[in-house]
Amino acid sequence: MRYRIALIRGDGIGPEQAEATLLVLSRLEEILGLDLEIVDAKAGDECMRKTGTPLPEETIRILKSTHACLKGPVGETAADVIVRLRQMFDLYANVRPARSLPNVPSLKPNIDLVIVRENTEDLYKGYEWELDGAAIGIRLITRRGCERIARYAFELARRRRRKVIAVHKANVMRITCGLFARTCREVAKEYPDIIYSEMYVDAAAMDLIRRPEQFDVIVTTNVFGDILSDEAAQVVGGLGLAPAANIGDEYAIFEPVHGCAPDIAGKGIANPISMILSAALMFEWLSAKHGDEKCLEASRLISDAVVGALEEGRALTPDLGGNAKTIELGARIAGFIEKIKRP
Ligand code: ATP
Repeated sequence: MRYRIALIRGDGIGPEQAEATLLVLSRLEEILGLDLEIVDAKAGDECMRKTGTPLPEETIRILKSTHACLKGPVGETAADVIVRLRQMFDLYANVRPARSLPNVPSLKPNIDLVIVRENTEDLYKGYEWELDGAAIGIRLITRRGCERIARYAFELARRRRRKVIAVHKANVMRITCGLFARTCREVAKEYPDIIYSEMYVDAAAMDLIRRPEQFDVIVTTNVFGDILSDEAAQVVGGLGLAPAANIGDEYAIFEPVHGCAPDIAGKGIANPISMILSAALMFEWLSAKHGDEKCLEASRLISDAVVGALEEGRALTPDLGGNAKTIELGARIAGFIEKIKRP
């Protein structure tokens, strides 16, 4: 099957990461015979400067004509790009894995968790206004939103260590978090094979530092998930390694967790792994959606090659303690794909 993949290179370090990721993708095409058609689509600050809009109609048209989108970080216009795309394509599950990797300083050695964050509701819905010197924001939580994110988390746990922890603050936000907690409990009854528990968000923030290895799948609402997943990324070694997926029933967008890192942009020293691992998540999703074993193999190969390159430690970017360029680490990972497949 031929996969059409939209590529948004983004701003700042985004285009540099995209170049390194393309090396990995083309190696996968050669080695696995994957058939990829990469279609460039513009979005972000630079696009705004050139075209007057951060998210042109042409880009939306391209995304609608592709199987999935791989996206680099965008700058100041992020809310006009990714937040709009999440709503437009109903990408309700934001999935952010955090795993200890070799040669990367991590708080504990055996961390392997995934944060499943509801992606379309909560305070990020943007229902806010000012009235007579007060600022008001609406926290929208729906049963449908809670149910589908809970189900996503339980299904994911079945493919992992079979543990789901729902994170909320229902002792204070009794109505909104109450609905989330109640719905998670109801869905849990459909999954007797999964160990289910709950935790308040403040305790979860603390336990991510204290006992991160206890977590398997964390399911939570939008704002809590946003904050906890940056924390989890740091716990396992930093944003440069953190991938994310925005998943809906029909479409999905894969992107690094971090922003466009203007402080290091243009120097060619950004870590490309966050985007390369985002591509691994993309192939895993494509495999499940289209029942394609080749995509699953692509996903595994990328993850193994990242581990290989980190273990070897010959081409590490400055955030990992080395002095390699973005493109050199990308090439090294691509090299490991070949090594693993054709030893
Ligand atoms: P945003 O608010 O859009 O998330 P930000 O400016 O708060 O963006 P980031 O752009 O995510 O934050 O960057 C935070 C820090 O992490 C910066 O010092 C940046 O250089 C570093 N960083 C982010 N991504 C990478 C990467 N891929 N490689 C190396 N360092 C990175």
